[in-house]
Amino acid sequence: MNIIKTQLNINVPSNNRPAYIIIHHALAPRCSIDDIHGWHLNRGFAGFGYHYFINKEGKIYRGRMETQRGSHCKQEGMNMKSIGICLEGCYQDYQGNGDKVVPDAQLEALKNLTLYLMKKYKIKQERIKKHHDFVQYKLCPGNYFPWEKYMGLVAESTDAGQIKALIKENQYYKEEIEKLQERLGGIKKKIYEIERMVEDE
Ligand SMILES: [Zn+2]
Repeated sequence: MNIIKTQLNINVPSNNRPAYIIIHHALAPRCSIDDIHGWHLNRGFAGFGYHYFINKEGKIYRGRMETQRGSHCKQEGMNMKSIGICLEGCYQDYQGNGDKVVPDAQLEALKNLTLYLMKKYKIKQERIKKHHDFVQYKLCPGNYFPWEKYMGLVAESTDAGQIKALIKENQYYKEEIEKLQERLGGIKKKIYEIERMVEDE
């Protein structure tokens, strides 16, 4: 996974203790991290309010340092206990825009970044949240964002998910072996019967 460094120069305190991952969309079908940086400066923020930006091609850009406080979700003190990830795109109907499809490359990059952060900060999957979970009137990251699919991709890639898959696979082979043993038993019986018949003749 490649994280592209940026020169945004954001001066905010390093008092973030990541315990959650919060997903957002930019509410803009096409934009760069520099565009959002400018918009956030205009709104009086110290600059780009998230820790990461992922464009539709799946490129990951570093925004704020992970240790720096964010400006993306003030509810429940989340700016000081989460990593904010912003996706390029407008995954809801808004001002004539509405991206109904999240490109595979973008979703794949999001999955990889999520897994990396989960491992690094020991964040459980229940603590991956939509911005909407904290601010109900916002749809962020958009009602067209395939949340279930994303959760499924993450689940099957975590250590727990992989162990589950291995157990399932193991069970499958156990059953197959039992079936073969049963068939082998039948064949042995048949051979024995044939041998008896030959002896009787
Ligand atoms: Zn948001």
